[in-house]
Amino acid sequence: MMAFRDSVRAWLRANLPADWKHAMLGASEAEHIAFQRQWFCALRDGGYVAPHWPKEWGGAGLSFADQIVLYEELARAGAPRLVLYFISLYHTPATLLAHGTDAQRRRHLPAILSGDEIWCQGFSEPNAGSDLASLRTRAERRGDRYIVNGQKIWSSNAQYARYCLLLARTDPAAPKHKGISYFILDLDQPGVTRKPIRQMTGGAHFCEIFFDDVEIPAENLIGAENDGWTVAQATLSSERGLTILELTERMRIAFDVLCAEANNETPWGGRYIDDAGFRRRLAEIYARLEALRALVSNMLDRVVRGESVGAEPSIIKVYYSELLRDFTALGLRMGGLDAQRIAPVLMGGGYETGNWMHDYLYSWSWTIAGGSNEVQRNIIAERALGLPREAPAAKPRG
Ligand SMILES: Cc1cc2nc3c(=O)[nH]c(=O)nc-3n(C[C@H](O)[C@H](O)[C@H](O)COP(=O)(O)OP(=O)(O)OC[C@H]3O[C@@H](n4cnc5c(N)ncnc54)[C@H](O)[C@@H]3O)c2cc1C
Repeated sequence: MMAFRDSVRAWLRANLPADWKHAMLGASEAEHIAFQRQWFCALRDGGYVAPHWPKEWGGAGLSFADQIVLYEELARAGAPRLVLYFISLYHTPATLLAHGTDAQRRRHLPAILSGDEIWCQGFSEPNAGSDLASLRTRAERRGDRYIVNGQKIWSSNAQYARYCLLLARTDPAAPKHKGISYFILDLDQPGVTRKPIRQMTGGAHFCEIFFDDVEIPAENLIGAENDGWTVAQATLSSERGLTILELTERMRIAFDVLCAEANNETPWGGRYIDDAGFRRRLAEIYARLEALRALVSNMLDRVVRGESVGAEPSIIKVYYSELLRDFTALGLRMGGLDAQRIAPVLMGGGYETGNWMHDYLYSWSWTIAGGSNEVQRNIIAERALGLPREAPAAKPRG
């Protein structure tokens, strides 16, 4: 294990571009995409881009324990996050390896590793987020193809993606979980309209996607028709806690940045660290951060041992997102008026951007993405505390 950690460290010392943070501060979209691809290819050539993929598909086939080491070291070195390739590296292979055909795997997995195929996930709709199974985008079979009409929303990085993992309704008469199918959809075709959604941070992380008589060849169906809900479970359980590990490590590094800033002399004299109220808040954040690290490490140990993790991912998601919000709020408070200015953002960064306003605003998205905190609390109540299940919503009268 130590030897592997040492080899990752040595590789990072030799290959992590020293000036990447400087170069990517306020970078344009085109520069961001080019740099993501460059870093993807560097990691791939080093054998680190697909640590979890089986060797026969070009991955490193690493044990889960070694994957943990890799992500810890990437975070500690402050390496860029491969945000553009997240779906391509996790959700797509997990889905294709579990439920795809050999032809689908051969067509897409090597193309992903080339760095040229970016994917997005088209699950959520304007009226189907927490209650995803209510989705209404329709796919009708006509001969050897399906015709798709409808709309998706919040699809991360869809503006850069070539392919979409699509859930669509194929049997409107069936119970809602039973009439859904799962497709590979080529976004570069007539009838597909992508509209980036501008966020309060100023960026546009995700898109609406509209489908107007869009064609999908029948061979792009993943799994059986109307069994898309089963296939989607493979997509949703693909990364097994590694992202939260990486983000927690990055928050720990950002905490050191916060402490260093708190030690600086302020323009009006004195230091934040000398203020008792501020020190109390800092100590509280530190204690919560250590608790989060313990929660994450506990869960990952259980995954390594092959044990079930129950409601732990939900507990960690709620804990992480609320801590991130309070932590960045403290940074913002310390930044004073200066932190209110619109400043360039580090593209591909974690929470070490030093741009507290951006990081604070963005932190709120973590309370929603991947299942809102209210829904996570329902899961914790039912699965961990054994409380009664939520009553189904009342049917409208008349
Ligand atoms: C940064 C980010 C990236 C995302 N990326 C993608 C992506 O790539 N692809 C994709 O398909 N989707 C993506 N999403 C969408 C995400 O999965 C949904 O936003 C999420 O599931 C919540 O659904 P919703 O937005 O429709 O909210 P709704 O389900 O409409 O919820 C509205 C409010 O009601 C509450 N609520 C709903 N049901 C209950 C309940 N049963 N009990 C208590 N409270 C409830 C919610 O907590 C929330 O506060 C992304 C979202 C974010 C923020």
